[in-house]
Amino acid sequence: MHEMSLAESVREIVDETARANGASRVTRVRLEIGQLAQVEIDALRFAFEVVRRGSLAASALLELVEIDGSAWCMACSSPVVISRRGNPCPRCQSHQLQVTGGDRMRVIDIEID
Ligand SMILES: [Zn+2]
Repeated sequence: MHEMSLAESVREIVDETARANGASRVTRVRLEIGQLAQVEIDALRFAFEVVRRGSLAASALLELVEIDGSAWCMACSSPVVISRRGNPCPRCQSHQLQVTGGDRMRVIDIEID
């Protein structure tokens, strides 16, 4: 389950940022998850519950913002939205797509006390 290591890196980023800002605790964490990032939301939530114990984010509200996958279709020369890697272009069914966005996970921001 790679969500466990993802959750650990989120906790590290959050903890480091909070410490650097002199926080005593983190109240909210906002994460952006692209639909093409191959992250299982439920698994990530579960993993975060496990890894955040004892960290500054132990009681933080975890907010997940899902964003659409986007790609450039070479066949119709236009940007398209795809929900899964390997899906064809929704306009022309071509598989000549280049993923341009929604393929990663990142910490958007955190709220601290
Ligand atoms: Zn197309």
